[in-house]
Parts: sequence; structure tokens; C-alpha cells
Amino acid sequence: MDELTAEVVVAGAGPTGLMLANELALAGVDVQVLERMHERTGLSKALNLQPRTAEILDLRGLLGRAEDRSFATVADGHFAVIPVSYTGWDTRHPYQLGIPQAEVEAALEERLAEQGVRVRHGHELTSFSQDPTGVTITAGDVRIRAAYLVGCDGGRSAVRKALRLPFEGIEGRGHGVSADVLFDSPPQGAPTEWRSMGNMVTSQSPGKFVGVIPLGEPNLYRVSFGDRLHRPQNLRAEVTEEEVRAAVEERFGPEAKIAKIRWASRFSDDSRLAAKYRVDRVFLAGDAAHIHFPAGGQGLNLGIQDAMNLGWKLAAELRNQAPPALLDTYESERREVAKQVLDNIAAQNALVPLTPDQLALRALFRDLTALPEVQHHLSGMISGLNIKYSAPAGAHPAQGSRLPDFALGDGHASDVFHKGKFVLLTKEPTPPPHAEVVVAEVPELPWPDLTKILVRPDGYVASTTGSTKGWLV
Ligand SMILES: Cc1cc2nc3c(=O)[nH]c(=O)nc-3n(C[C@H](O)[C@H](O)[C@H](O)COP(=O)(O)OP(=O)(O)OC[C@H]3O[C@@H](n4cnc5c(N)ncnc54)[C@H](O)[C@@H]3O)c2cc1C
Repeated sequence: MDELTAEVVVAGAGPTGLMLANELALAGVDVQVLERMHERTGLSKALNLQPRTAEILDLRGLLGRAEDRSFATVADGHFAVIPVSYTGWDTRHPYQLGIPQAEVEAALEERLAEQGVRVRHGHELTSFSQDPTGVTITAGDVRIRAAYLVGCDGGRSAVRKALRLPFEGIEGRGHGVSADVLFDSPPQGAPTEWRSMGNMVTSQSPGKFVGVIPLGEPNLYRVSFGDRLHRPQNLRAEVTEEEVRAAVEERFGPEAKIAKIRWASRFSDDSRLAAKYRVDRVFLAGDAAHIHFPAGGQGLNLGIQDAMNLGWKLAAELRNQAPPALLDTYESERREVAKQVLDNIAAQNALVPLTPDQLALRALFRDLTALPEVQHHLSGMISGLNIKYSAPAGAHPAQGSRLPDFALGDGHASDVFHKGKFVLLTKEPTPPPHAEVVVAEVPELPWPDLTKILVRPDGYVASTTGSTKGWLV
């Protein structure tokens, strides 16, 4: 048995774990990443980055890598398969980036390796125990003593189960299937490029749906289909060729000829949230903390943003620069965001019509989405652009808000965040208030009445006076 030490062990090298490990490595934290799989499968569940995730990656200089690996720029998002525009939002990225999850993971793992951290593939966390000074983790032939453990090990999280945390929520009735299907030629009426969510998903009979997304390779499509009322007895049962063929025929008729089904996977419409995100020295992030039906394309995005929230807080704690309650704000901030996503998924599910009155309700809802305010509200939820963390009563509206990116010098304000530090944006010359703060002089701020703002490493406004009180000691 190899005995190792680390400051933080990250269990699971999906998008959440890889983003977290990158954040920790950037802050100089000694991190070990354990991954059960011996090698990447190259297969992808998620296919998109939402605008806020694009901003988050931009804050670390990682967006270009994702763009290089993307296959589409999609002008809108969707709510219950009704397209919603992001254009009303003050963002440089008012679109979804079409990128397979495997490519997001590859980009993050590449950057992690550049930071000197190698994922320990083929190392499944099998047990751990914690005491007041640390956590001891066992994974295959390795035992690691660390200050903290973060379970980024997906929906069936071994870490969450070992903590015996309730995983509360709604047990769905239905199920879905995603399959990457190569056709002989593009099916009649199918788009050849993914530019909008309009007409991507159709429903022929109540509760059923079939969606198609062109994947950027000739004749290759993601076919997603399901039934919101029925599920097979065994949700892990292998997807059959007949099921996929039937869905393709329902959408495109018998003329559509399948050359190959490259990959197919079944998923449930259960929605669940861990009762806690932290038990002493052990944390949960990503799907380990929350699962839901993939409506609107939000899960991977939620996980990456969990990681962005937790990374700098753990690093500050390890450097003894965190005020006592800082680490607990990870749960209070991110669990609330996940709760809101689960609520919007439930609302989207309720808009899948099963009865004539529900059909009428959906038609009415669709009409309402034509109103710019409704579009703005819905796209803010789906994109993560509406996230605002809590601020004391009477605080300036900027506090807790995301910093909209703006032009600065030859580049943008986001460039100043590449090192993962707090940033003081100030209109007047100011010395750094703390060793962990980078100062940037700016001609204007997004809030014209303010002279300086302190922005957290994850891009949310910490204080509107520039004070580090409550954030750094
Ligand atoms: C069909 C489908 C389509 C989806 N589409 C979208 C979409 O379009 N947009 C979107 O945002 N989201 C989508 N999602 C959700 C998205 O895929 C997940 O939210 C995302 O994968 C979560 O990332 P994660 O890193 O938290 O977990 P995972 O991706 O599950 O990664 C967990 C990792 O931990 C490893 N692991 C597990 N147990 C252990 C252990 N004991 N020790 C060590 N390693 C372990 C696993 O091998 C895995 O690599 C979709 C989901 C499904 C099912």
C-alpha cells in the first residue's frame, strides 16, 4: 500500500472534479485527484456550456480551449423546449457553446497536467474516515492522508453514501435515452448544424419526446427520446437497437437509415439534492450533491460552478486566510442555486403536456415567453446569469452580483482574474488591501455610483467599498 499525503483529495475526475482540482492547483494547494476509470471513454452526456460557465472559464483563461474543441454556437437556450434568448443579458457570451462533455473534460485535464497535477486513473475511492485533524482515504493500492476530501464522484457518489446523507427529492415516473446515431445521410427535415433550440425536440404523443442535435460530424446526431410517464423496471437495462430505431422512425419516418449507434445510455427523471454539502472535512460537489432530468442543459454547468465556488474558499482556509464562516458559505450559496435549478426542472416537467388542459397551459406559457421580460427571466435561470449570492439587508445592489465583463486596456476585466485571486477594481490609485488582492485601475465600473469594488476570485462582488472584511484575514 502506497502512503501519500495531500492537502485536498478530489474523488472523481468528471467536469466538477477537474475544475475543482484546477482551482486548487492554481492556488498552490497540494491536490490529489482519484478517478475510478482506467481511461476516459470519450463519450459525452452533456453537450453544452451555458453563458455563465463560459464566463467562469474566461475568468481563468480557459474559454479559448473550450472554443477550440466546440462544434457549435447556439443562439438561444430553452425552457421546457421553448427557445429563450440570452440577448437581454449583459454578457460577452450570450449563447450556448456546443461542446461534448468529453472535450470539456479533456481541456480541463490538459490544463491540470500543465499545472503539474496528474489524475490517478484506475483509483476508486472505496473508503475513508475523518477525525478532527484530517481525512484518511483508501483507493486501490493507495492510502492518502489529507486535510479535506471532496466527493465529485457523480450521482451514485460513494462519498455521499458513506456520509449517510439523505438524498432528498422527487422520484420521477419516466425515463429518457440519449444515443449518438450515425445515419447514412441526414434524416429528412433534420438540421445539419446546431444553431438554435427551435424545432430540436418534438412530441408526437402525450408525455413522449424525441430530440435531435447534429454533432458537427457529417450524419452524426444526438438522438434523445423518452417517456415522462413510464420507465423500464431496470433503469440500468441496456438500450436496445429497436428502441433507438423506433424513436428515429417516430421522428423521421421509416426512410431514415441508421448506419451505426455509437453509444446509448438511459437516464431517469429523478430529482434529488443532498441534505448537506459538508460534513466536517468532507464536501460534495456536482452530481454527487444534486441530480435531475437534463432539461435545459444545466447539470454539468452547475457542477463546474460548484467547483469554482469551493476552490478558492478551501485554498483560503488552508492558508489560514479565511474568516471562520467562509467555508460554510459554499453550502449556503451553492445548495440554494441547486435548489432553484431543481425547481426550474420541476416546472419544465410540469409543462410537458399530458392532458388537453395541460396542452392549453403550455400554449399559453409559450405565448408568454414572447414577452422580453419573460425571456429574460427564463434565460437568466437556465444560463446561470441570474445568480446573485446573499448580501446584508440594505447593501448596495452590486453586492453578491456577478461582475459583468467589460473592456479594459487591451483586453477585458476577466483577464485580471486569471490567477484566481480577489480583484480590487478601482477608479482611483489604491494600494492592495491584502496580499491576496490584485489591484486594477479602471476608468469606469459597471455600477457608475461606485468608486471601487472588491470582487471574489469566482467573479462575484464581495464588497462595494473595497474592504476585505469578512472575506480575508
Ligand atoms: C443523458 C444526459 C444528458 C445530459 N446533458 C447535459 C447537458 O446537455 N448539459 C449539462 O449541463 N448537463 C447535462 N447532463 C448532466 C451532466 O452530464 C452531469 O451533470 C455532469 O456529468 C456532472 O459532472 P460531475 O463531474 O459532477 O459528475 P460525473 O460526470 O458523473 O463524474 C464523476 C466522476 O467520478 C468518477 N467516480 C465515481 N465514483 C468514484 C469513486 N468511488 N472513486 C473515484 N472516482 C469515482 C466517475 O468515473 C466519473 O468520472 C446530462 C446528463 C445526462 C444523463
